[in-house]
Amino acid sequence: MVLPVITYGNPLLREQVSPVSDFTPIRELVDDMFDTMAEKGGIGLAANQVSVNEDLFIVEIADLEDEEDSGPLVFINSEILSATGSATMEEGCLSVPDIRAPVTRPDVISLKYQDISGKECTAEFSGMLARVIQHEKDHLKGIFFTDRLSPANKMFVKKALKEISTSGKPSKEIVL
Ligand SMILES: [Zn+2]
Repeated sequence: MVLPVITYGNPLLREQVSPVSDFTPIRELVDDMFDTMAEKGGIGLAANQVSVNEDLFIVEIADLEDEEDSGPLVFINSEILSATGSATMEEGCLSVPDIRAPVTRPDVISLKYQDISGKECTAEFSGMLARVIQHEKDHLKGIFFTDRLSPANKMFVKKALKEISTSGKPSKEIVL
């Protein structure tokens, strides 16, 4: 089932999330989140973007550089253990429609998380996967990619963010 994705300006997206303790109802939520992401054309989605304030996000990237597909990935109660390097790439967000801008982030991360069955895992991610994971982790902490823009680019998107807050969409697309 496709869920409504809430957008910039909705106070729920600035709230802290709670850890997942009961993994049984998570499966239906995860299924619905993958349906939602496929419908909207995203590559990552955090639970609070669909109004569920829990420490959970999903990722699925169809065209990774070295692999064909990341497959559907689910990260629950995650924590970044280390982050190294630096890379700048254009980002966008289903909750910040019609804005794309470059963001600088660490390039390689080590992540501790639980999978959908509750199993504890630790893994290293780099490139596009590391970027999307950090973007989704930010959502769970109430941070948007637009918070991480250069001061000049923040100025360029200010009006559009205000328009999203009031009408859900900016009056024109911005690609920086
Ligand atoms: Zn996002």
